[in-house]
Amino acid sequence: VAEALKTKDAPSPKLSTTEGAAKYVSGALGQLSEITGRRYEMPHVKLINMKAESWQSHGAFVCRESYMTRSASGERQIGSGPVLKVRNGEEAIAVYHEAVHYARYANRVDGITLENSFTRWAVEETCALIASNLMKPPGIKDPVIDMYGYELFQAVTPRSNMAVLGRMVDAFKAAEAEGKLLDEKSIAEILRSSLRMKKLPEEPGESEQYIVGMALGVMLLASNGMDAEKTVRDAATLTGSRLLDKAVGAASSPKALKHIEKMQKDLEAAYPRTGFSRVESAIEWLFGTT
Ligand SMILES: [Zn+2]
Repeated sequence: VAEALKTKDAPSPKLSTTEGAAKYVSGALGQLSEITGRRYEMPHVKLINMKAESWQSHGAFVCRESYMTRSASGERQIGSGPVLKVRNGEEAIAVYHEAVHYARYANRVDGITLENSFTRWAVEETCALIASNLMKPPGIKDPVIDMYGYELFQAVTPRSNMAVLGRMVDAFKAAEAEGKLLDEKSIAEILRSSLRMKKLPEEPGESEQYIVGMALGVMLLASNGMDAEKTVRDAATLTGSRLLDKAVGAASSPKALKHIEKMQKDLEAAYPRTGFSRVESAIEWLFGTT
């Protein structure tokens, strides 16, 4: 609570040193250790200087890469192993996001349990997005509202992303009511139609994976009765297919649906329709927001 109050008025600090980034990595891993009961070795941390042309370049986690390091005696040497990269100038949330990907790798739950590559990447991002926000690093006050307010999603608006959430929840609810079997294929079809796309992108790092990831994150949190700790634990320790089942399961639970409705109401209040932004109107037209 003290942390949250402290950051309320102060702007969140921007990362400008490797040591500063490493401090947040260790903070995130410390929280993850407490929640999951497992220890995480520090990955190699690298602050990278690059333009954020695409928003996946804000940070990255690589399972195995070589890097230069210094021995205790100051000698340069080559190391190899997991590397967590974050762009110079990012905020703590970017580090926490990559730390969740790293924890999933360390817990060996980042493997392929979902065949559809879009769904697989979207679920991986679900974990990083919702857990990093629920751990409330400096700069994050309200996990769900702040997640939907990311400036990372430059091409879309909170409202268009919220519309995708609404369509996904409605479609899962309808499928549930019809007694339809929600297998991986039908889930992917619901994701595709909720995004109003002809075809789901298959490469990692596509913005739609993050938009669906946020929505599944909301559903997972609702499935867990709004329990932040439980949701972070799930995100760090469940395989993709178990996590997807649990998130989608929210649509068949009246209690979870109530939680989702409340989050949707809070989001609508936080991001009122302005009617002034040309980008917003264009996007809303494209996505058919109503
Ligand atoms: Zn990610």
